[in-house]
Amino acid sequence: MSTLDNILEQINKAESIVILTHENPDGDAIGTGLALYNALKQYGKKADIIIPEYPRNFSFLPGTEEIKKESEVKKYDLAISVDCATIKMLNGFSNYFEDAKVKISIDHHSTNTMFGDYNYVIPEAPACAQVLIVMLEYFKIDITKEIGTCILTGIITDTGGFKYSGVTAETFEFVAGLMNKGINVSKIYRKVLQTKTRANFELNRIATDRLEFLEDGKVAFTYITKEDEEKVSAESGDHEGIVETGRDIEGVEVSIFIRQTDKGCKVSMRSNEYVNVSDICLLLGGGGHIRAAGVTMQCTIEQAKEKILMHVKKVI
Ligand code: AMP
Ligand code: MN
Ligand code: MN
Repeated sequence: MSTLDNILEQINKAESIVILTHENPDGDAIGTGLALYNALKQYGKKADIIIPEYPRNFSFLPGTEEIKKESEVKKYDLAISVDCATIKMLNGFSNYFEDAKVKISIDHHSTNTMFGDYNYVIPEAPACAQVLIVMLEYFKIDITKEIGTCILTGIITDTGGFKYSGVTAETFEFVAGLMNKGINVSKIYRKVLQTKTRANFELNRIATDRLEFLEDGKVAFTYITKEDEEKVSAESGDHEGIVETGRDIEGVEVSIFIRQTDKGCKVSMRSNEYVNVSDICLLLGGGGHIRAAGVTMQCTIEQAKEKILMHVKKVI
């Protein structure tokens, strides 16, 4: 029996199901979570989806009105985590996962720690949403307009609008299929990727102003503090995209962005051609993908910067 057969068997057996994703959810986390939620509903299975907070530009996605911030259910029959590399990243609500009778992880991070009883992880997939396509096709669950919209959101956001190297022919074949179903790809693209909040713009302005070039211009570094976020009344997701500013400058191989939070320094790293930032973040206790990775560090911004640069210098 394949992993997907096992997963379908567990879904069929479960009387209560919960869908979870990583903290500070991005479009792939919310898109995949909601796509699975809608797909299970269509399959005849009622599930809970718990996401304490998410960026408001995703609130147009079908199913968001049913997202729970928490649940009164103590022990679910089945917990499914999507787009999440480690149990730690389910932060704050990992108890729903840990207490469930059966645990499944669906993901595309090469650093996934295989923390489920069943793990369906495709590291080559450019978005977790694309992993879900494979699953739903295998389960013979029809990808309706609603499910397709959620999946498309995951793909568009995690591929930076179809431009990262992980994009495959299947990505475009899938999008073509959605267009044939009448989904307005351009409209969704604009909603999930192109529309910035004012606070996001202001944070970007601050971070851009502070950006410094190191290692002969091969490294770009910047940060934002808690005070910065308070000053611009930042909400969930308003820091998204800042790390890309540095990455997109000529000559830069590695972009480092640090965000100070109550839980420590959240580091985001991006690379262009040869540095494996996932390896660096793994060494520091985090993980991710070759060209996009992260780690949370318990120290000051200066200390974090120094530690990261020590590793970057060896490979740049
Ligand atoms: P971010 O810079 O937060 O957008 O993260 C880039 C990628 O690295 C995403 O795929 C994250 O899921 C992953 N990532 C970020 N932080 C961690 C961590 N502490 N452990 C494992 N993966 C992470
Ligand atoms: Mn994600
Ligand atoms: Mn993802």
